[in-house]
Amino acid sequence: MLSIIIPFHNEEENIPVLTDRLIDICSKHNFEFEIILVDDGSTDNSKSGIQNSKFQSHKILKLISHKKRLGKGQALFSGLQEAKGDTIVFMDADLQDDSHDIPKLLEKLDQGYDFVNGIRVGRKDSFLIKIYSLFAKLFLKVFLHSPYTDINCGFKAFKRKVLNNFTFYGNNFRFFPLAVYYNGYKVTEIPVQNQQRIHGKSKFGVNKVFIGFLDTLTAYFLYKFSERPLHFFGMIGGAFFSTGFFIALYLSYERIFYNKLLFNRPVLLFAMVLILVGIQVILTGFIGELIVYISKKNSS
Ligand code: UDP
Ligand code: MG
Repeated sequence: MLSIIIPFHNEEENIPVLTDRLIDICSKHNFEFEIILVDDGSTDNSKSGIQNSKFQSHKILKLISHKKRLGKGQALFSGLQEAKGDTIVFMDADLQDDSHDIPKLLEKLDQGYDFVNGIRVGRKDSFLIKIYSLFAKLFLKVFLHSPYTDINCGFKAFKRKVLNNFTFYGNNFRFFPLAVYYNGYKVTEIPVQNQQRIHGKSKFGVNKVFIGFLDTLTAYFLYKFSERPLHFFGMIGGAFFSTGFFIALYLSYERIFYNKLLFNRPVLLFAMVLILVGIQVILTGFIGELIVYISKKNSS
């Protein structure tokens, strides 16, 4: 069975068109399917259209409501908790994703992949966003070893089993494709159409790309280092400490053997700051280890 999960916030013009298209396509392909619409605290009439739809009584359409706006990530999570299917599709409600791409995504899953991410083609972004995306993509590829071209694309399909070992919270849904990859599942990507939004407004401002990048970094940190914080803090603190230490060592050497007085050498201050900051950061790592240890002890 296929569960299509659609988070929405104030998309009243888009929802009826989208559900009609989805039902049309899924019926044509004879999919056994359900559409889970997650209302993320909408303040317009998005909900009433769904409640009046004949498909709701046929149990094809399911509606879940948040009392207030909790964000797209939380909405996806609420949808997953209701989903019965062993194949899951995430898509946006704003008609930017093309329902015709669903069979193509599912075809990849049939070929043995566990997770298929979309690559949006035909995006009409500003020059600035394009440059920024390029930079973020390179960073993700080089430092986080991302296999994806368009990690922020909300249109994706996957088998339910990839959800093991992943907890949705806050905004970490942006990191979800990477986590699946790190967990050793077979992932791939295909181009998907991306249309201009016609009705309603984008819910994320221009800062979304930057925030998205920060979210990915946070998730990366939590995912890689939450069990061993000292490795992370130790590396950074160690770099600070040793730089400061070697500068101080050099200054001491010159003081002792060449009698260069220290009172007129401001770089000494710099070295001292580096040493102190380094020690602080390393100790933060120890506190992190302590927290992990105590929480493990309490949960075992
Ligand atoms: N969305 C949501 N809660 C939010 C923000 C967005 O449910 O707090 C939904 C929104 O209604 C849409 C999808 O998430 O269905 C993607 O949002 P949007 O189209 O605004 O993002 P963009 O395409 O501009 O990145
Ligand atoms: Mg959109």
